Amino acid sequence: MTDRLYYHDSFLYEFDARVVESFAHGGKHAIVLDRTAFYPTSGGQVHDLGLLAAEGKQIAVTGVADEEDGRILHFVAEPLASGAAVHGAIDSARRLDHVQQHSGQHVLSAAFIQLFNMPTVSFHMGDESCTIDLETAGLNAVQAEKAEWLANQVIAEDRPVKIRFVPLEEARQLGLRKLPPKQTGDLRLIDITDFDLTACGGTHVRATGQIGGILLRKIEKVNQGMSVEFVCGLRAVATARRDYRALTEAAAVYSSHIYDVPEQIRKSLAETKAAGKAQHKLLEELAELHAERMLARSSGSPRIITGLFAERDAVFIKLLAQKLTAGKSDVVALLASGVGQPTLVFAQSPGQKFNMGQRMKDAMEQLGGRGGGSADLAQGGLAVGSSQLEAIEPLLQRIADGFTSGQPL
Ligand SMILES: [Zn+2]
Repeated sequence: MTDRLYYHDSFLYEFDARVVESFAHGGKHAIVLDRTAFYPTSGGQVHDLGLLAAEGKQIAVTGVADEEDGRILHFVAEPLASGAAVHGAIDSARRLDHVQQHSGQHVLSAAFIQLFNMPTVSFHMGDESCTIDLETAGLNAVQAEKAEWLANQVIAEDRPVKIRFVPLEEARQLGLRKLPPKQTGDLRLIDITDFDLTACGGTHVRATGQIGGILLRKIEKVNQGMSVEFVCGLRAVATARRDYRALTEAAAVYSSHIYDVPEQIRKSLAETKAAGKAQHKLLEELAELHAERMLARSSGSPRIITGLFAERDAVFIKLLAQKLTAGKSDVVALLASGVGQPTLVFAQSPGQKFNMGQRMKDAMEQLGGRGGGSADLAQGGLAVGSSQLEAIEPLLQRIADGFTSGQPL
């Protein structure tokens, strides 16, 4: 078994040890030491990184794992001789961050119990934020903020965090917040003075003040409860800084105070919606005018109307097709637009004998696009930036001529 130095001092960043085993392990090498300050991934807390210096070289530790038999494996790129003396150094900034997140989780979980009797069922420490899952039917924002406030009060009170080892039977009498599922030997208890007592093998602060602060980020429903995302300590400062920067940038766009940004966004969205409605109304009126003019110039039976609108989009020619054919009995409209995806719309006054869908398929075959539709209305499109734009107008004309020259329908 490896002597776990971090059990007794979470702020021990350097140590001396001896190599007990060194063996190949999944493309890397696993080193077992007689003692280590490296924390292995367990209990929701992720492993340390750092260096092992031995035999005149420095080797990076890229992973640390906890074995069932009590050994701790340090994953490195090259082997070390068994019996070699090593000097270990862990990445202290990463460790401090983990200590802050993990200890903060103890305080936050205890706050949710004390205030709302919501037990924590799991803890996850990610690269950006941490989450706990609470066993509860619901949790609202006001409750979450209350728990955040209580947790930060406990941090501000700088309560001592004591570690002691207690036999399992004795621990059962102490009313721990959480008992580990399987345990042999003594339990390692983490005691946040007069606030929380729980069993845990992780690394913790000496007093709650070292957590620095807790910032809750979001709450959301998960399978059997609620998930609470949070950050602690320096990570909370970095996250709040990033949030503030984004908010300040948004406020500058609106030339407003940051607290007015939500209202400004709502106003903007309402204006965009109103402008969209007004634009659509204008487009309808424009289509109506075009339709009147085109119908006035049309003749023959059926009245074949063609038009390429290079400066308009598909929405406009669809509107125009509708204005041209609806309420008439003898109109065939063959229209095309050039803005965005070049689009063709073929439409006929309902009840005529022609098949717009089939004609659209033929047209698309010639232009290299895709389309189809019903007998009365069909639509087809070419790729954006198609080189076939010039071919559209003569094609529309040929199709129009086909109606009068008795070609197949
Ligand atoms: Zn812990």
